[in-house]
Amino acid sequence: MSISGKTAVITGSNSGIGLGVARELARLGANVILNSYTDRDEDHALAESIAKEHGITARYIGADLSKGDEARRLIEDAGTCDILINNAGIQHVAPIDEFPAKTYDAIIAINMNSAFHTTAVALPMMRAAGWGRVINIASAHGLTASPYKSAYVAAKHGVVGMTKVVALETAQEPITANAICPGYVLTPLVEAQIPETMKEYGMDRETVVKDVLLARQPSKEFATVEQLGGTVAFLASDAAAQITGTTISVDGGWTAL
Ligand code: NAD
Repeated sequence: MSISGKTAVITGSNSGIGLGVARELARLGANVILNSYTDRDEDHALAESIAKEHGITARYIGADLSKGDEARRLIEDAGTCDILINNAGIQHVAPIDEFPAKTYDAIIAINMNSAFHTTAVALPMMRAAGWGRVINIASAHGLTASPYKSAYVAAKHGVVGMTKVVALETAQEPITANAICPGYVLTPLVEAQIPETMKEYGMDRETVVKDVLLARQPSKEFATVEQLGGTVAFLASDAAAQITGTTISVDGGWTAL
């Protein structure tokens, strides 16, 4: 079974990995629903341009996923959700004793709790349709840790754990749940943490990229949004029907260290 004609909801998809995933699924014939917390003309125009390029249906639904009821409304408004990609995420880099509590709560809410809320509404839709895929964009930080990323590491480990629970609860149904664990991908989220990391380590930009970001990525290359799109497409395919409750690393060897 191909994913052509399926509906994919991709959270946090007006930028970065989410947008790359949406473009790849649209290219393969899926209808896509894009999301972020904004509701600008350019967000809707982005969906229209993807629809036009690939001859599929694309919609943009604004919903602030820091709020559980908004996360639930996103899936309700989508109306159908065959493939759920929980991708929305934010980052903040600071030592624990200086980490703002509000920022910690926001990261846990957006990066982890939103996936619980969207999944809770999407699963009955998948059951009614007799097929479904839950694909959570976790991180290498869902499997290992780095200093100064307490909230992010906690949230991503949580997402990996929740993925396993969803897989067990759907194990005897034609639904799978998996997490993708990217290493560093050069997106706005990574760009934004370069200045903070420069400050924490007292380094220039080039040194941060080479000696901090890619220090633990043995390939010494960033992964790309296109590669992430391809990994999502694989997990959505029939070839992956017996892959459930696990993680796929796209990290240039980081977690092999
Ligand atoms: P990005 O900043 O380009 O994209 C994040 C997306 O989430 C954007 O569309 C943003 O608008 C959206 N978002 C943020 N707050 C939101 C909210 N409150 N409600 C709804 N949407 C919200 O970053 P990215 O690098 O593409 O990150 C996407 C996912 O991939 C994140 O979960 C991130 O943790 C994960 N990830 C990224 C990397 C990397 O190196 N870039 C590595 C591992 C995992």
